[in-house]
Amino acid sequence: MRLIIKHRHIITAVIVILLLGVLVYLGTRLQNLKKEDVAADTFAGTAMGTAVKKTIYSDSPAKSEEVSKEIDTCLEELENQISVRISSSEVALCNRNYAVDGVYELSERLIGYLKQEMDICKETNGAFSPCIRPLADLWGIEDGKTEVPDDTMIRDTLEKTDASKIEITDNGIIFHKENMAIDFGASGKGIACDQITEILRKNGVEGAVVSVGGSIAVYGSKGNGKDWHIGIRDPRGDEDEVLGIVDFTGSKMIATSGDYEKYFESGVKRYHHILDPATGYPADNDLMSVTVISANGFLSDALSTACFVMGLEKGMDYAEEKGVDAVFVTKDKKVYVTKKLKKSFHIKADGYNLVKKNKLSGK
Ligand code: ADP
Ligand code: MG
Repeated sequence: MRLIIKHRHIITAVIVILLLGVLVYLGTRLQNLKKEDVAADTFAGTAMGTAVKKTIYSDSPAKSEEVSKEIDTCLEELENQISVRISSSEVALCNRNYAVDGVYELSERLIGYLKQEMDICKETNGAFSPCIRPLADLWGIEDGKTEVPDDTMIRDTLEKTDASKIEITDNGIIFHKENMAIDFGASGKGIACDQITEILRKNGVEGAVVSVGGSIAVYGSKGNGKDWHIGIRDPRGDEDEVLGIVDFTGSKMIATSGDYEKYFESGVKRYHHILDPATGYPADNDLMSVTVISANGFLSDALSTACFVMGLEKGMDYAEEKGVDAVFVTKDKKVYVTKKLKKSFHIKADGYNLVKKNKLSGK
């Protein structure tokens, strides 16, 4: 008895440690049990003129389905606001009804995105143009046109895609020329990914991978704490053929712009839908695709298009400067990645080679 009293502190400490051990063990078990309940549900459809695929990890199929429906509604609303193809959309109304040199009022949301697009336009020396639409219409590649427009017409259109002829104010936009038009073709699917992520967060699902065309929102986890392994498309393969895999944990937004998405061929030349505002022709450089990975869907999407137009060297410098991860694939099947991505990107497709050392602009 006296021995117990003498060592009572040690005994209390041992009991406390044992109890803590039991608690930690039970906690982990409970967590694992909970995680084992998480299952994947997949949904496929179309929105914003492209394929939408959703894999939602949650503890109930009913919840996943509800979230999937909420995403569909959100995509429809967004399309109704920003699509140039829907004549009643805010963007289409603006393009049709603005008066030269006057302020055309826009919603706060669009002003916010347009301001960011103007920043990207300045940072890229105009490679990214928020008002590319008249040129995209002239080429009509998204609408299935397969002829190169007249060179004079292309040159005449360039003054309408010159972003120095528009101003974004606190309540709207000013166009200084007639027949100009804004366009969210390069960033809209990324904006969708940001909104989708908000819905996933709000509904408390465990994780999800949602792709809207070439933009992917990866959210949370599969429920087992393991890395995501997300495939980047082979620019010369079928839709489900993967060039390489990027590994990471947590949420990220991935966008790919490529010359394979919408194009036609004439002779040996491929004319695609990513246009260079400097020439009026499809960006003609060594690239087949650019993938950008960041925390923000809008940024990933806009920068994937911008970097594609800029080409390998300038695009790579710009991606590093913006602190985003990026994968550049050249026509000779070489793959260049930003510094931080070197360890987590792995080539899977035959014939492609990862260039280990980027000796690009000598930086
Ligand atoms: P996708 O729409 O196939 O995912 P992108 O995100 O690269 O591909 O966007 C391409 C679209 O962006 C084009 O269809 C056009 O509407 C628009 N676009 C093309 N060139 C430019 C450019 N230089 N700057 C801004 N937007 C562009
Ligand atoms: Mg884009």
